[in-house]
Amino acid sequence: MPVFECRLQRTRLILMFLAAISGSCAAPTARVPTPTSEELAGERMRQIDIFVRSYLDYENRLLNHGHRILVGAAPLCEKKGYVHGIALFNPAAIKDSDMRNMFMQRISATDSQDGLYVTRTGSVDVSADNLLPIGSRVVEIDGTAVSDVRDAQRRLAGSEQATIAYVHDGSVRTMVHRGTLGCDYELVFSPTDEPNAWTDGTRIVVTRGLMRFVQNDSELAFVVAHELAHLVRGHLEATRRNAVVGGFIGLIFDALVLAAGVDTGGAFARAGAEMAVQTYSADFEREADYVSLYILHRSGYDIGAVAEFWRRYGSTVDPASIKYARTHPTSPERFLILDKTKAEIQDKVARGLPVLPEEKSATDVGSPTPAGSPSSGEAS
Ligand SMILES: [Zn+2]
Repeated sequence: MPVFECRLQRTRLILMFLAAISGSCAAPTARVPTPTSEELAGERMRQIDIFVRSYLDYENRLLNHGHRILVGAAPLCEKKGYVHGIALFNPAAIKDSDMRNMFMQRISATDSQDGLYVTRTGSVDVSADNLLPIGSRVVEIDGTAVSDVRDAQRRLAGSEQATIAYVHDGSVRTMVHRGTLGCDYELVFSPTDEPNAWTDGTRIVVTRGLMRFVQNDSELAFVVAHELAHLVRGHLEATRRNAVVGGFIGLIFDALVLAAGVDTGGAFARAGAEMAVQTYSADFEREADYVSLYILHRSGYDIGAVAEFWRRYGSTVDPASIKYARTHPTSPERFLILDKTKAEIQDKVARGLPVLPEEKSATDVGSPTPAGSPSSGEAS
């Protein structure tokens, strides 16, 4: 049989098979109301509206607390920049035109051109009469045209008194916007439901799932402060270095085994890198929790009940991980570290001592929360 005819035959057979199945399948018998296409279109827009409003609310809440943390932690950061508290978005980044239009409507955009629109305004200490209007379109920062969100944010971070040209109600205006010195990292809200937060070295990302898990502002601030602590303590660089050292030691094994006539294909190098990364990751988590409570206190948050975060977390996860975790300390340990750190901070405050994290001395290597005299004379 020619190939074409054979295919035709097969298609016919498949169609007959499908028809037989659908004919013999039981259909629901209740009379379900059928929405009209207008009703469906209207409801679709309402749901897009709910998404856009909640997106803007979540992002705003993250930035409100995140910016405060970036400023509060400034003395602990090497990488500093000016926090202006402005959030920008480029409508061209949203593919769906209904979603795009809804964003523009919700921020009361006064025009609808390509460019960078203000979705959040404010600053940590700028007076209320010096705020960029939400919905206005930023066209220049310090005399340079801007069209990319990250580029605009970099310019703002580099400028204590940024001259911003913006379009509002059809006219171009300028304003001098003052930033506050803080740690120079970007805060990003991710509208995904897995409770998570992470950093890639320049950005701190917090998901909607985690923002739903936190029960108050101090817990949200703790999440940001924890990620920031990984950055200010250089954990990312240290992990990369450990991976290189572990990988190098593993390479020696690969070479030895290869010399004996077995090609491992680099398996020891990979295993070595992974082992070296995991060796310290739990310690980095302990240090990030410890330092983050200091950052919270310095940023003006109530640290009284933050340790509860880990108690609640422990009650939501697999009971096995309460006892044992490979790369993270267990939640009972994390609760106790935060609780002890809280007591350490409260004691320093009561005695009028500088409120700064304790550093290990050469003699107490191995202690997760070494106690001792403050290492710096800076007051909180
Ligand atoms: Zn961490």
